[in-house]
Amino acid sequence: MQLDFKIYEVSGVGLKVTKKLARLEIHSVKDLLYHFPRHYLDFSNLIQIAKLNEGELATIHGQIWQLKTRRRRGGLFLTQAKIIDKTGTASVTWFGKPYLGQILKTGDEIFISGKVTIFEGKISFTNPEFEKGNKKIHTRRLIPIYPETEGLSSKWLRTKISSLLLDLKGKIAENLPKEVLKRQKLPEREKAFVNIHFPKSQDEAQEARERFAFEELFFIEFENLFKRQKWAKEKKATSLILPKNLKNKFEKNLPFTLTLSQKRVINEVLDDLSKKKAALRLISGDVGSGKTVVAAFAALAAATSLKKTIIAAPTEILTFQHHKTLSKLLSPFKISISLYTRSHKGSDAQVIVGTHALIHKKKPFENVGLVIIDEQHRFGVRERAKITKQFVENGIYPHYLTMTATPIPRSLALIIWGDVDLSLIDELPKGRKTPKTYIVPKEKRTGAYQFLRAKIDEGRQAFIICPFVSESETFETVKAATSEFERLKKDVFPDLKLGLVHGKLKSKEKEEVIDKFSKKKLDILVATPIVEVGIDIPNATVMIIEGAERFGLAQLHQLRGRIARSTHEAFCFLFSETGGAEAKKRLVALKKIDSGFKLAEIDLKLRGPGEVYGTKQHGFPQLKIADLTNLELIEKVRKEAQIVLKKNQGGDK
Ligand code: ADP
Ligand code: MG
Repeated sequence: MQLDFKIYEVSGVGLKVTKKLARLEIHSVKDLLYHFPRHYLDFSNLIQIAKLNEGELATIHGQIWQLKTRRRRGGLFLTQAKIIDKTGTASVTWFGKPYLGQILKTGDEIFISGKVTIFEGKISFTNPEFEKGNKKIHTRRLIPIYPETEGLSSKWLRTKISSLLLDLKGKIAENLPKEVLKRQKLPEREKAFVNIHFPKSQDEAQEARERFAFEELFFIEFENLFKRQKWAKEKKATSLILPKNLKNKFEKNLPFTLTLSQKRVINEVLDDLSKKKAALRLISGDVGSGKTVVAAFAALAAATSLKKTIIAAPTEILTFQHHKTLSKLLSPFKISISLYTRSHKGSDAQVIVGTHALIHKKKPFENVGLVIIDEQHRFGVRERAKITKQFVENGIYPHYLTMTATPIPRSLALIIWGDVDLSLIDELPKGRKTPKTYIVPKEKRTGAYQFLRAKIDEGRQAFIICPFVSESETFETVKAATSEFERLKKDVFPDLKLGLVHGKLKSKEKEEVIDKFSKKKLDILVATPIVEVGIDIPNATVMIIEGAERFGLAQLHQLRGRIARSTHEAFCFLFSETGGAEAKKRLVALKKIDSGFKLAEIDLKLRGPGEVYGTKQHGFPQLKIADLTNLELIEKVRKEAQIVLKKNQGGDK
């Protein structure tokens, strides 16, 4: 037997069982050993029958006295036995195990492990574990309880794993470097397998779990680092240089003063671009921290060096916004900009802003020196890879920048998104105030509407966001938004100018509505959550979010970010009528906290990384045992992976 044997090569595993195991994603011996217990039951307490206590987990050792097997009327098999030792008698009942009649006989010595019930002096066990002889797999110890599937019990898994571990004794190769184990004080692989499945103590089990969590992350990190190094070595690019005087002129021409954070990140980016190696950098900054202008500097550098820039964004609305903003910033410098989306097949230009449609363009744009992906977490891994590959010409890569408003701890970003260079815009432009946020119960709805009206009288504008009906912009969501729009127009604000925007509108219509709103021809924009990214209308300072409990924290923060774009005071009303305790916690957190970074951490704890960072959709492997909220571990793993990679290379040369 070897670790890489197929599971059907194991004795006693036929076609049927193979299929069942496949449901647990177990296809090889290795997979089975990596099928870790969920928890353990402690049956190590071997005790005389007379000394048993109600409710405890215990093991008894005695003789089978009576054994009866019968079928109940419903068809359920019932096996009953009396077990005696020197001190007393216990009755045992098993349900649904017709084969027991063949395994057990009166007079057999047996160990029984389970939960003790004592009723009116009568001691009994229901469906306990049992074992004859001295094997000690199911009784008298901590026994592993596994994720199961129909027809494959923990008992079955335990039996197989235990015999495999015996078979493989001395044959399980270590896969982590010895020095790492030593530094991190982790058990060796074979020992860890034994200890995670059949620990002598909870501590031993814990140690083994830590080792496998480390191992799991180590290989991801190692591969990330390796790929990154390879990228740096192999991916040649054209150097894009922004002359100092032009840089200064561009900066002076901006309608605002850059924050120190923006300046730092712009320099990091320009430094990257000036090299002949393709940049691979993630720019992370809270909503409204001003990432677009960083992209503008980069595009200016590319255009000056006679290369095109592609800016990809996840929604059409966001491309319109970028097109507008960048036109304003770059046109004075005689740089042409065009749009490329499903409905706008703009002409070739120095800067091309587009959606996924870029990927499907038959003949990719040529002479592209820089690719920027905005809100990159909204793109799948494959789409991102495709966008980059598309523009490789004669082995020369474009520089590659990604931007995200999802605040993410650095170590987590590096493990999830591969090893990129990271720039953090950790400061908002001066004078920004986080919107005052209120959780509004049903009975105060009217009050909130009155407040909104008062702000409109003062000259401001407002968003009303309709809830998520379903994850994507489906018919139902659109319908809900449309009927809410009708209701508001008719019953609540008949005298005001309302507009509606949702994902099913034609892009022309979307553009028109947003354009009207930005020109102040509308007072209120009723919208589905598609406005989460890409609307930049500083005069809009009030937002109502309907069904707020349905949104994730990061998303609420993004939405709220739409109205934190000016120096006017902003107000966000969370309408929430239902929702459990966890939803409540999210809303309260949003009310109290304004740092997107802190909110992301809370979200991470409440919902887990899968939900918060969409790790599942984005190709990050499903983790078996490591916990992505354990940042300390991730940091440790990363350091070790770096050391090992360096050493390996030293050895090669
Ligand atoms: P995000 O990081 O969310 O993409 P944007 O780039 O859309 O942010 O910028 C948000 C708003 O802030 C825009 O209206 C932009 O013009 C403005 N802005 C950007 N940088 C500054 C700054 N340094 N000072 C003042 N306003 C700024
Ligand atoms: Mg942005």
